Amino acid sequence: MKYLIWLVIALAVVVWLQRTKKSMTAGAASSPDGRNPFGARKQRKQQAETMVQCAHCGIHFPASESVTNASGAVFCSEEHLRLASS
Ligand SMILES: [Zn+2]
Repeated sequence: MKYLIWLVIALAVVVWLQRTKKSMTAGAASSPDGRNPFGARKQRKQQAETMVQCAHCGIHFPASESVTNASGAVFCSEEHLRLASS
């Protein structure tokens, strides 16, 4: 009976660890064993990202998704870059 309790606890820990791993590796390429050498990079990604404004439509979005033209203007998409420069 004692072992059954420990088995349940062990299973709960395993399930919890897998969920934690999944949420940490979501959206990024992960190695099959769950150990990711780029863990530090992901930590940074979770922090608040710099928001920029599209020069065409005015929407705010993360700087990492921005498209910049030759004159330094920031756009939300290639489409808006094209529309603004035409
Ligand atoms: Zn836009």
